Amino acid sequence: MGTRDRENRAVSALTCLAAVIGIATLLFVYQGYHRSLNEQAELRQWLTGTEESLGVQEEQIAALNGEIGSYADVAEKNRQERELFYAKAKELETKVLNGESDVKIAYLTFDDGPYWDTTHIFLDILDEYDIKATFFYLLKEDHDDIYQRVIDSGHTLANHSASHNLYGNAIYASVDTFIGEVEENRQFIQDKFGYTTNILRFPGGSPQARDLKWPIVERLREIGYGYVDWDTTTGDGKNSGTVEEYIHGVLDVSADYDVMVVLMHDYSVNTYKALPTIINGLKEQGFIFLPLFYESDKILK
Ligand SMILES: [Zn+2]
Repeated sequence: MGTRDRENRAVSALTCLAAVIGIATLLFVYQGYHRSLNEQAELRQWLTGTEESLGVQEEQIAALNGEIGSYADVAEKNRQERELFYAKAKELETKVLNGESDVKIAYLTFDDGPYWDTTHIFLDILDEYDIKATFFYLLKEDHDDIYQRVIDSGHTLANHSASHNLYGNAIYASVDTFIGEVEENRQFIQDKFGYTTNILRFPGGSPQARDLKWPIVERLREIGYGYVDWDTTTGDGKNSGTVEEYIHGVLDVSADYDVMVVLMHDYSVNTYKALPTIINGLKEQGFIFLPLFYESDKILK
């Protein structure tokens, strides 16, 4: 083999190698390009999917906002109807107090709830007699359906502080402590149920606040609140006493009143048993039953 032949072979080997490298590079680049095309397509698809799902979410959010809007409308409508009802109740109460009416008014009130095991049976009795009452309630989580039923039934939901903590009179430690509890419970009811309470009963009654009573009443006035104690009671506050005693607790003194606030508790089984007799007895004495409202004479401001 001559020198030229060796050179030719070397050149063609080199050419071959270059071609192989060239093709390999091309394949590599093409694969990379192809992969990147796939990735881009996938990315585009993902983005489109995300946009679509974002679109769906936006629609859902808009629908929910619409629903929330309509809840607010219903709450506002209910509030207006309640105001109309209270205006009529105020007219009637004024007539009764002026001796211009044959009927008397009893405001039945139930304190310390809601109670998941007993409140419903009280609400059932009130429904049965078609009577509207007032519930002075605390801040209790996980009792939403009871608060809601009280509101939806047309009863007055009122404020009895958040905790009712009378141990060592803790709730009356200071004016700020007490007002803080009133505000906390008001906010809870407002946020959860869109319902504004502006009536308070002091835990234990207003004398329980001792020296702080009048400073508290002053602050209540500033935040648009009135308060009420009671005229008669079944005496169920200690949850002892017989059904007969509870009936007499109300019916024996009710004749002294034209407009009367009755204190009871919707945890008391004996009050539950006494309630039909109390209602019928008061009816016989000429009483009708109304829920309390801010403008009532009974609400002190
Ligand atoms: Zn109480």
